[in-house]
Amino acid sequence: MSDCLFCKILDGEIPCDRVYENEHVIAFRDVNPQAPTHVLVIPHQHISTVNDLTEENKNIVGEMMLAAQAVAKQEGIEETGYRLIMNCNEGAGQTVFHIHLHILGGRIMRWPPG
Ligand code: AMP
Repeated sequence: MSDCLFCKILDGEIPCDRVYENEHVIAFRDVNPQAPTHVLVIPHQHISTVNDLTEENKNIVGEMMLAAQAVAKQEGIEETGYRLIMNCNEGAGQTVFHIHLHILGGRIMRWPPG
């Protein structure tokens, strides 16, 4: 998608601080971190929101989760804990319409998240 910020990051058109990648996903640090570790995992494939997941593309979510697990280990937060978030649509706080998994860690997380 030519007007998608995260597609531009995938293409290298916009720089990012990449911390992990494989054939399915990349992970990079959020520019506006909400915790000492705040990394985003995005699929190569453009999928706008969680509402656009289907039987055909559902496996990407498992790949995103496994990538998050690898990033958590890499960041040394797998034992202390981390939160995984996918916002769906504006009301939930989604601002970039290419699905992404937030990995937040390195501090105590509160609940409810607000
Ligand atoms: P969401 O609000 O769930 O759609 O999350 C989008 C996230 O992307 C926000 O946390 C932003 O801080 C982050 N973000 C926006 N632009 C960039 C960028 N160029 N590089 C890294 N993170 C970004």
